[in-house]
Amino acid sequence: MLKPSSESTLNTEQIRADFPILQQQVHGKPLVYLDNGASTQRPIQVIQAISDVYEQCYSNVHRGGHLLSSRSTDAYEASREAIRAFIQAKSTNEIIFTPGTTFGINLVARSWGDACLKAGDEILVTEMEHHSNLIPWQQLAQRTGAVIKAIPITDEGQLDLSALPGLLTEKTKIVAMTAVSNVLGTINPVAKIVKQAHAVGAVVLVDAAQSVPHEATNVQTWDADFVAFSAHKMLGPSGLGILYGKESLLDAMPPFLGGGSMINTVTIDSFTPAMLPAKFEAGTPPIAQAIALKAAIDYLTDVGMENILQHEQNLTQHAHQRLTEIEGLRILGPAPELKAGLVSFDIKGMNPRDIAGILDTQGVAVREGHHCAIPLHQRLGISSSTRASFYLYNTLEEVDQFIEALKKATMLLG
Ligand code: PMP
Repeated sequence: MLKPSSESTLNTEQIRADFPILQQQVHGKPLVYLDNGASTQRPIQVIQAISDVYEQCYSNVHRGGHLLSSRSTDAYEASREAIRAFIQAKSTNEIIFTPGTTFGINLVARSWGDACLKAGDEILVTEMEHHSNLIPWQQLAQRTGAVIKAIPITDEGQLDLSALPGLLTEKTKIVAMTAVSNVLGTINPVAKIVKQAHAVGAVVLVDAAQSVPHEATNVQTWDADFVAFSAHKMLGPSGLGILYGKESLLDAMPPFLGGGSMINTVTIDSFTPAMLPAKFEAGTPPIAQAIALKAAIDYLTDVGMENILQHEQNLTQHAHQRLTEIEGLRILGPAPELKAGLVSFDIKGMNPRDIAGILDTQGVAVREGHHCAIPLHQRLGISSSTRASFYLYNTLEEVDQFIEALKKATMLLG
């Protein structure tokens, strides 16, 4: 159990000074930004890195035989190497730049899925998936006749692992699971599930959109086959994501999109694909975004991922404690030490949209709605919820401001 802590593991004052957007007031109140699960903010180092690309080295990558092109290509590849090290992949051939988590999962469902699945095969998801890790598998099932099954959750908001032996059979071809739920915050036992999935010959795709930004990642310890995440949720630019895949799998998969950069040879009616990772990077990639992601990774690494998780869990624990002061409030998901830095809740008889609207007038930015997890909300017996999600720049004082604003909201709505 985490000790309640008023001391931060991070120097938030120093960190916050790096984030110009956090210095502002909204509706005449200091901004309390608690919508990091949807997208985080960027430090000046990342903003500067984006503008440096355009001011100093911008050109298309892997194309021209001129100095700017080799500068931007070198920076683009240096970023790929930084990402490899950050998630501890074996090779940069396993790091594919994509437009985001959603794209990465669709890439696997299309390329790997269409090649490897047939009618009657099973795809195992979980009841806590974001639609991004659900719909591509449903579409794959529609194309192939495969069947979708789901690992249920317990009433405490954890995966019910007792159901796993009954669900994992030789029919299971892929397990698609989130590492951290974007609604419950639950940190799932990825390595344990991967081991059991591999024992029946299934591959595992991990939706790491909510985990890579918040905890140290080692894809080799997980032994996951595919891992997808987004730059905009980890201080990086929007429009960019990463798909990690084991080299042997990516090598065997057909290309997803066709076009420039992904070919080796081309005739008028045929082509041979390029080697990895170019095979999966058709067309002009998000160049400036990819280069600037390295600045975000450097920033997170300097602060330390263990420190970030500890800090977020302190904030979550404080939020859990203080939320008990509000009558009729139900926290969704498990105890704070079992989750990453977010807390979603439901208040009896109150509409999350009204709650978020009042919080906004108090300067507090939270998200309300189904958070792209309609089946999960159905399981929880509600249609929507309110979520406060934290990051390294948030403070205990901000959690208190959020609670005071929430008290005001419940008074007005009650
Ligand atoms: N999976 C999870 C768990 C998420 O939280 C999100 C973003 N809300 C996504 C997938 C999709 O990410 P993106 O919109 O960047 O593709």
